[in-house]
Amino acid sequence: MPQPVDVALSRSKGVLSIEWEDGVVSVLPIPYLRGWCPCAACQGHGVVVAFHDADPHVGIEGMAEAGAYALHLRFGDGHDSGIFTWAWLRQIAPESPPLGYKRGRFVDGRFEP
Ligand SMILES: [Zn+2]
Repeated sequence: MPQPVDVALSRSKGVLSIEWEDGVVSVLPIPYLRGWCPCAACQGHGVVVAFHDADPHVGIEGMAEAGAYALHLRFGDGHDSGIFTWAWLRQIAPESPPLGYKRGRFVDGRFEP
C-alpha cells in the first residue's frame, strides 16, 4: 500500500489532497470523506463499510496525524471519531478501482455499488 508524501487541506476548495509515493495525487472532497467515515458510530462493527450521504457543505475543523498510519479528522458538524488510515484513504480515492468517486459499500474490502 503506497504511503503519502504530502497531505494538504484546502478549506477554501473544501478538499483534502494527498500525494502518494507512487506519484498518484488524490483529491478528496470533505463531504465525500464525511460520507466514508469509517468509525464505529458511522459504520457499526461489521465487515460492511457503507457510504452515507453527508451535508454537501460540511467542512473540516481539525486534522491531525494519528501515529504514522492514519489521519484523525474533526468535521464541521462536530463529528470527530473518524480515524482515516492511509490504506482506507487510498481505497476510497478515485484513482483506486473501481475508478471514480465511490458511493456504495465495501463488504470485506470488496466494493459493491
Ligand atoms: Zn464516523
